[in-house]
Amino acid sequence: MAGVIRRLDEAVVNRIAAGEVIQRPANAIKEMIENCLDAKSTNIQVVVKEGGLKLIQVQDNGCGIRKEDLNVVCERFTTSKLQKFEDLSSISTYGFRGEALASISHVAHVTVTTKTADAKCAYRASYSDGKIKAPPKPCAGNQGTQIMVEDLFYNINTRRKALKNPSEEYAKILEVVGRYAIHNSGISFSVKKQGDTVSDVRTLTNASTVDNIRSIFGNAVSRELIEVGCEDANLAFKMKGYITNANYSVKKSVFLLFINHRLVESTALRKAIETVYAAYLPKSMHPFLYLSLEIAPKNVDVNVHPTKHEVHFLHEDSILERVQQHIESKLLGSNSSRMYFTQTLLPGAECSSSEVVKSAANPSAATKGSSDKIYAHQMVRTDSREQKLDAFLQHMNNPLSTGPAEVTVGVNAAPPVGPARLQDAEMEDASDLEIADVLEAAEVQQDVAMPEELSKSRHLFPEKALPRKRPREDTDIEMEKDVSRKEMTAACTPKRRIINLTSVLTLQEEISSRAHESLQEMLRDHSFVGCVSPQWALVQYQTKLYLLNTTKLSQELFYQILIYDFANFGVLRLSEAAPLYELAMLALEDPESGWTEEDGPKEGLAEYIVEFLKKKAEMLKDYFSLEIDKEGNLIGLPLLIDNYIPLLEGLPMFILRLATEVNWDEEKECFESLSKELSLFYSIRKQYLIEEATLTLSQSLHQILNRKKGMLFERTTSNGSSKDITTCYRFRRRIELPIREDSWVKKSCSFRGILRYQKP
Ligand code: ADP
Ligand code: MG
Repeated sequence: MAGVIRRLDEAVVNRIAAGEVIQRPANAIKEMIENCLDAKSTNIQVVVKEGGLKLIQVQDNGCGIRKEDLNVVCERFTTSKLQKFEDLSSISTYGFRGEALASISHVAHVTVTTKTADAKCAYRASYSDGKIKAPPKPCAGNQGTQIMVEDLFYNINTRRKALKNPSEEYAKILEVVGRYAIHNSGISFSVKKQGDTVSDVRTLTNASTVDNIRSIFGNAVSRELIEVGCEDANLAFKMKGYITNANYSVKKSVFLLFINHRLVESTALRKAIETVYAAYLPKSMHPFLYLSLEIAPKNVDVNVHPTKHEVHFLHEDSILERVQQHIESKLLGSNSSRMYFTQTLLPGAECSSSEVVKSAANPSAATKGSSDKIYAHQMVRTDSREQKLDAFLQHMNNPLSTGPAEVTVGVNAAPPVGPARLQDAEMEDASDLEIADVLEAAEVQQDVAMPEELSKSRHLFPEKALPRKRPREDTDIEMEKDVSRKEMTAACTPKRRIINLTSVLTLQEEISSRAHESLQEMLRDHSFVGCVSPQWALVQYQTKLYLLNTTKLSQELFYQILIYDFANFGVLRLSEAAPLYELAMLALEDPESGWTEEDGPKEGLAEYIVEFLKKKAEMLKDYFSLEIDKEGNLIGLPLLIDNYIPLLEGLPMFILRLATEVNWDEEKECFESLSKELSLFYSIRKQYLIEEATLTLSQSLHQILNRKKGMLFERTTSNGSSKDITTCYRFRRRIELPIREDSWVKKSCSFRGILRYQKP
């Protein structure tokens, strides 16, 4: 059944049409601002309430409206700007069809207060549905016009409901007014919420375009601007504006486009320009663009619907290409002189980039000026000497740990280690040190010459050293420990054993003579960046980044400690003895030991190793704090760095190599090779940090640890306090999860310790 066609009520027609023109408060404000500009105003003030839904008030100082015209000003198609159709082609005003005020008055309550230059007073009139409600009333007022729009969409329920969010509307208003303000430098604009004292947009009459961009989009944009401008007589167009250089980029592009002074959009132009920038900006980052195009009015269809922002014009493609070319050339020119103002902040540091620059230039002034206290760990390190990594790692420090400074109080005072010597050009050496290869080379030789050199060498060494006093080993008697410590400090003043052994002194000299001066300097003044992996650490020295091989570096460090601190070590004591026999067996069972049938039965070899090492026990204990009891159990290891325990996965192989790889014949060679083996065992080795590599070994160790439940390590520090550091359970966990978060931290911490230790 066909419906009956009826003519709509005129008021309904007008309301629908008005709703099309004025879709939201920002549209109304745009129309009103254009009227102000048409009236040659130099000061435009906008006040809004509830995002413009409750109230919009636009005040200007323009030419005003004549009293006689007030009757019709809100009627449709009444305008002072256009008379004949031909005028359209030369139109220079925004408005020309007399539609805006009429539309607004159909969807809101409008009140106009206006005064022309020659009128004696101002007049006020209110409008509803395009009609004046009562004759204009004279009132006081300055020259210009004030238009008040109240209760927008009061008669269109659906539209009112759709615009529920006043702050969103307010943001749109700020956007529109801000853009007009930039395009109209020389005219001051302001926008504020009713009742507020501060304006959210504010530009001044004497401000330049760049000043306005700065006040609306901020310094970050304004200081990176390039002025652009080109024209083409053939295409009858002119373009000018400001665009950001390659230093600036934002996630969401900002494009202020005015064509013949109208704020419009042109997707084609936007795309054309963005392709140029794509070559200069990071991926999915965009520029800030403000362009003003003037195209011969005859080439632009200005007679588009007011809500149609998207414009098209004649010769569009050619004009786009010219604009593109010009922008490309400008960007190219600016690229050669990039400036960097910004400074990256560490997460957590909350201050603007300009503040950082300031504080870097004048730190004392900056701290005085700011009321909030800035803690060391929040500050940006610009010089490695100013702030150490320690500041960032404070919380990880073991409260019981003794720093190097305190160590000197103890019996086994640790002096600074000698000059950094870097054997195999560790720096920048990306080739991996495969310790596994070295271990593979380790052969078990049955016929190793094993002379009784210990007693021989003993008497060669002058015994000037004081006997070291060690605290009690009982962990459960806290009191006694304290007493013994006091006694110790009171009775025997801790003294460092002075080593006059020619062999050790020669080894020390060898280290210092091989020192590499610039590497030493680099190690001393580096800034720690982070751990790339357990094996590689990244440090910065001056302007370069270096990859440090922590395996090689730690091995070298331990070697130097062993030589320079010779016979002055603390003890890492095993709370339950580890049988050398089982350790040797474990090592022999590992394919890395290279054991073959020809070497004879493993058991025999293991027994031989135990007997051999037992004979060396006295020397090992005295000089290296490596303690073996009479039953052939390992009971103590040297404490080379406070809080550092070597990964015990390497222990079996160390024991095997101690018996097979050390040169026991010559004094100097003995100390050297023994220190090398120890430093290898103590070094940070990838194979013991990465699961696959340690699988076989860790499985066997797992077994032995299971058997020897509760194998606790007790650390005896140099000042006599001892503490259970870790349990068998923890060792097992470390084997199972070798790359846990905290094992990384552990590595980086001990690495830090290493470097600190080397500082003179
Ligand atoms: P248009 O701008 O297309 O002429 P409008 O409905 O926007 O139509 O305005 C109607 C008329 O009201 C304008 O032609 C102008 O004469 C007058 N008018 C509106 N606002 C102002 C103003 N702020 N100052 C002076 N005259 C104004
Ligand atoms: Mg208008």
